[in-house]
Amino acid sequence: MKLSESMRRKTCKQCGAEKAIRAFYRHSHYADGREGICKICKGQNVEANRELKAEQYRASKRAWSARPENRAKRKAYATTARGREVHRAACLRYLRFKRLESGT
Ligand SMILES: [Zn+2]
Repeated sequence: MKLSESMRRKTCKQCGAEKAIRAFYRHSHYADGREGICKICKGQNVEANRELKAEQYRASKRAWSARPENRAKRKAYATTARGREVHRAACLRYLRFKRLESGT
């Protein structure tokens, strides 16, 4: 008898806990269609990797922004309605952040 999707369970390769199949992200490379580690472990790995490689990601972003063709793209985007809206939201976020930082 084939277990229904909601009944299937799987053991996480990282934390070793047995969890419902929906606790694992879908992935076509796996025979059962789900990743080997649970969503919680996956999230922790992503978080750890982001912190570990923060400087590398920043440098790569800076390098992208410095290329002339990308500077032109950014300039063109800034003149669109969406670009102005996104810029305005970013400015407000920055001001809010600055206010929190100064504690006033
Ligand atoms: Zn896990």
